[in-house]
Amino acid sequence: MKIFVVNAGSSSLKYQLIDMENGSVLAKGLCERIGVTGTITHKANNGTVYTADTDMPTHLEAFEAVIYALTKSEAKVIDSFDEISAIGHRVVQGGSIYDKSCLITDEVLKDIEDLSELAPLHNPANVLGIKACIKAFGKDVPQVAVFDTSFHQTMQPKVYVYPLPYEYFEKYGVRKYGAHGTSHKYVSERLIDIIGDKSKSEKIITCHLGNGCSITAIKDGKCFDTSMGFTPLDGFMMGTRTGTLDPSVLTYIAAKENLSPEDINSICNKKSGILGVSGVSNDNRDVHSAAQAGNERASLAIDMQRYQIIKFVGSYIAAMNGVNAIAFTGGIGENDSALRAEVCESLTYLGLKIDPTKNAERGKEIKISTDDSAVDVYVIPTNEELAIARDTLAIISK
Ligand code: AMP
Repeated sequence: MKIFVVNAGSSSLKYQLIDMENGSVLAKGLCERIGVTGTITHKANNGTVYTADTDMPTHLEAFEAVIYALTKSEAKVIDSFDEISAIGHRVVQGGSIYDKSCLITDEVLKDIEDLSELAPLHNPANVLGIKACIKAFGKDVPQVAVFDTSFHQTMQPKVYVYPLPYEYFEKYGVRKYGAHGTSHKYVSERLIDIIGDKSKSEKIITCHLGNGCSITAIKDGKCFDTSMGFTPLDGFMMGTRTGTLDPSVLTYIAAKENLSPEDINSICNKKSGILGVSGVSNDNRDVHSAAQAGNERASLAIDMQRYQIIKFVGSYIAAMNGVNAIAFTGGIGENDSALRAEVCESLTYLGLKIDPTKNAERGKEIKISTDDSAVDVYVIPTNEELAIARDTLAIISK
């Protein structure tokens, strides 16, 4: 059985075709510049690449290009799209309505559209992707929505309600929703599976550290707390995002510089974090190189991010009254052994010990703590597409 996974942005479309027999990727690709011109880059699992510049005034033409790439191009992997059993869509915001993935009906599509207020950059693009996909593949192919927020719906009100006048929660749904849920779910399920013994995975912490970063505390397999909030801006500093700030900093700067709410939003989302402090780049590798060359702001940015990660991990250990296991994932979490070592060093008081040789390894699932460590620490590469495909398969199998 083959599942097609779609991640639609406003002018882009990422996709993978996954063989559910073994979870392997048959092909993956990206359509870019939708609405402007249109380019597709498609890679088959045998290494063949198909690229084309083709008019994509809307997402529909992008899907038509994808169907051509999958079924007719030199990098084709199937004869007809009838071989695709279902389509899974990444949807960013499911609000308080969706605590799990679901089959897309007209009603679900309307809900996703209505939830755009909470995710104005993402949900409208997801809707465009879903509508175009229905047109391109026909109504008979089941389509499933997998929400980035669903995994976090198990948080309790004391965790997700903000200490603002309660009416904003009631009137506008202003609360903590979290994000990266598909990744935290995938990584925590893998971790629980690898550990095997349930009593040794009751309290776990997953650290998704990439360009966007979030940390989640998971109790008995369910999200207990997570660092992202009403939007993916909350938590700790990321490539270009601030993370948590004293809100009065923003009103102060807005008054000083005569900035609108949109300006503030843009500064906090696009110009801050590692980029804002270092002035070098939003990419940790560039900032590390600059720090090694003596750039003090680059060193400060790295130190700040690590310190904030340590504080979140520590606070979640307190909130859960302990931790059995910690997993690192995402571009930084999977590759930056020095960061992992520093975070783990802050937890030696718990009896956590890492093995430096194992911690230096890369690109695979690995336990990096020693056998006598009181807390298990793992690196688990995330696989959000496979998680979406699995949810899609589970729903159509019901
Ligand atoms: P992601 O968003 O998960 O693709 O992660 C992107 C981030 O991972 C960027 O900040 C990269 O600099 C970072 N990253 C990738 N490889 C490394 C590495 N070897 N060491 C440190 N950071 C890395």
